[in-house]
Amino acid sequence: MILGVDIGGSHIGAGLLRGCSTIRKASVEADKRDAACFFNSVVAAIRRVFNSRVTAIGVGCPGPLDWNKGVIVAPRNLPLRNFMLRERLESIFKVRVAVDNDASCAVLAEAVYGAGKGKAVVAGLTLGTGVGGGLVIKSEVYHGAGNASEFGHTSIGYNGRRCNCGSRGCIEEYASSRGIVRTAKSHGLRAESPKELYRLALKGNKKAVGVFRETGFYLGVAVANIINCLSPDIIVVGGKVSGSWRFFHKSLKEAAYSRSFSKPPIVKAELVDAGILGSGLIACRRG
Ligand SMILES: [Zn+2]
Repeated sequence: MILGVDIGGSHIGAGLLRGCSTIRKASVEADKRDAACFFNSVVAAIRRVFNSRVTAIGVGCPGPLDWNKGVIVAPRNLPLRNFMLRERLESIFKVRVAVDNDASCAVLAEAVYGAGKGKAVVAGLTLGTGVGGGLVIKSEVYHGAGNASEFGHTSIGYNGRRCNCGSRGCIEEYASSRGIVRTAKSHGLRAESPKELYRLALKGNKKAVGVFRETGFYLGVAVANIINCLSPDIIVVGGKVSGSWRFFHKSLKEAAYSRSFSKPPIVKAELVDAGILGSGLIACRRG
């Protein structure tokens, strides 16, 4: 039996997998005070679903990371620095552990089971605490020399919003939860989260609707860059912010297609537990 783990910026999800379905799952709030506290949250999430029949654990974690060694290098939204995640988990659970980028895992699951099924080249974005990216070619995660497809840190403006990765104009600063809240604030709209903005937009609040339209435009510019670089067969957009898809997909497609050489479908992710399913796939394959 395989156990999949999805490490996010706010929660850690873990699930026991049978084929392409999650038969038992748990979610633990991430304690981000320091590396030890954070690691304890990961262990707690796994313990909630772990049993003696588990033979391998797959973990998706924000990068940059060394997927081969299972070392988390320096994710900007987590307190982990050069953290030997695979080794630490293997010593506790006594089973094989495979680690990969969380967005790559989610896109892999979409490519194998979800919106990208049957497509050779699947590029994906996950919109949440940060903006993750993944590229899957013929059902395999493409890593390049290490950390390929960090689409969240591709820039849509050399003089744009400052990102603490050291760059400016990273799409993460526009299409992550905090990026969207920041855009809302710039229009005089106070909201704690994209979810709150979504509720306002549903009620017809024009400013909230406008914030999503603007976010779609920013995303479209980033997606055009992805299309022009990689010419994927499909672009899949997931993560919790994609729940507001209906308010931003039109402006996203308009901006992307007006700037790109080809027009692959740009679709919302289909799977509920893409991160968990994808990390499970990684564990199966590297077992
Ligand atoms: Zn950045």
